Amino acid sequence: MEMRSAEFKTRSVFAIHDGGLQKAMGMLRDGFVAKRTVQAAELPEFEQLREEAKNLKNHILDNLDHYLERYEAAVTAAGGQVHWARDAAEAREIILGICHRVGAKIVTKGKSMVSEEIGLNEALIEKGMEVVETDLGEYIIQLADEPPSHIIAPAVHKTKDQVSDLFEEAHGGPRKTTVPDLVNEARQVLREKYFKADVGITGGNYLVAETGSSVIVTNEGNGDLTQTLARVHIVTSGIERVVPRLEDVTLFLRLLARSATGQETETYTTFSTGPRRPDDLDGPQEYHVVLVDNGRSKMLAGRFRDMLRCIRCGACMNHCPVYGSIGGHAYGWVYPGPMGSVLTPLIKGLDNAYDLPNACTLNGRCGSVCPVKIPLPDLLRELRHLQHKQKITPSLQRHALSVWRFAATRPGLYHFGERIAARILAFAGRKKGRLRKAPLASAWTDSRDLPAPSGRTFLEQWQSQRGKS
Ligand code: SF4
Repeated sequence: MEMRSAEFKTRSVFAIHDGGLQKAMGMLRDGFVAKRTVQAAELPEFEQLREEAKNLKNHILDNLDHYLERYEAAVTAAGGQVHWARDAAEAREIILGICHRVGAKIVTKGKSMVSEEIGLNEALIEKGMEVVETDLGEYIIQLADEPPSHIIAPAVHKTKDQVSDLFEEAHGGPRKTTVPDLVNEARQVLREKYFKADVGITGGNYLVAETGSSVIVTNEGNGDLTQTLARVHIVTSGIERVVPRLEDVTLFLRLLARSATGQETETYTTFSTGPRRPDDLDGPQEYHVVLVDNGRSKMLAGRFRDMLRCIRCGACMNHCPVYGSIGGHAYGWVYPGPMGSVLTPLIKGLDNAYDLPNACTLNGRCGSVCPVKIPLPDLLRELRHLQHKQKITPSLQRHALSVWRFAATRPGLYHFGERIAARILAFAGRKKGRLRKAPLASAWTDSRDLPAPSGRTFLEQWQSQRGKS
């Protein structure tokens, strides 16, 4: 997927004026967010589970090499093969190599954010293969030739009418207009592809070191058909998705669906261990796991290690006021919202995604709902700090911050400056009670007026209130 995070501001402006997107974002807020609140309240141990999940993830990250080696040994013992990919190019090469060797013509795919991250579809298509996304949301955006806009609801930005148009054009009429009819139509088209597929590619929500199993959770059952009906099953996963034991999966499953969609559990949870055995009724002849690093080892060794706890639930973006206003495409790469604003600069470079950490309002909602307690606001602040240190932050902003720091470390000077500014701004806005322009506030006043201050600083008002009480 082409990286377009540098266009964040322009794309955000388009998104804010896109009526269809704004309607879809409203439904996201009313749906996932409201349902998560209910689910979290109905499970008394929800907070305790979050703490346990955080601790377990930390333990896994502390011993990642050990669990990955155990996992590889278990996969091999079950008849599968693990491949290690240092970066996106290596991962693509490995998968293309397997597809080429087995003469793949049709490749079906379950939802996999790692495959988006490594640009897999483009690579397979370029080599002449037909790639079919089988998750309904992914299938819709594949027809629309768009990237996903949400990590668990990739077509959340599409209205029903837009989907009807896409299906009519791709499948030929008659045009379906109800959700059940649209789902049925997709089901008919996809069913044929499952049976013809040579290779089925899925993600891996969890990789169990104890048994060598990969676990996927879906609401449509498409992952099961993708991985059992094709001759070859390839799992693509980040190295951080390993868990020690089978029973550890339960802990994350109890948090994942509640945090993601506000369901008690996802409809399908499927465990795959190796290829088909002689007495199995179905299953692939070959089973491969491609473990992708792509910057994760660097994260593990540095101050952004906490980010590797992410279980890709999407709760942070569902609760983010910035994501809720602009949707996912504005972020310009695979991962949107708060988690994407941390991951994208770390994977693609701080300077290639300058605006993402800076778009955050630091309201803290993302961190407060994250099921594995990733301190997203702290990580975003840390990224800003790094951008400043590496002089990626524009020089005017850096100099303004230096002036501010000079004043802020001299309280007398700072309060004096504040009093002067408050009085000047109050005087300038005395007639209308608002200002159409103000120094250093053009980002605000470009699109709305700035309320004129009362003429007294916050500290003055607070002190006088305290005196009264
Ligand atoms: S950062 Fe937390 S809330 Fe966001 S997707 Fe990852 S696990 Fe979910």
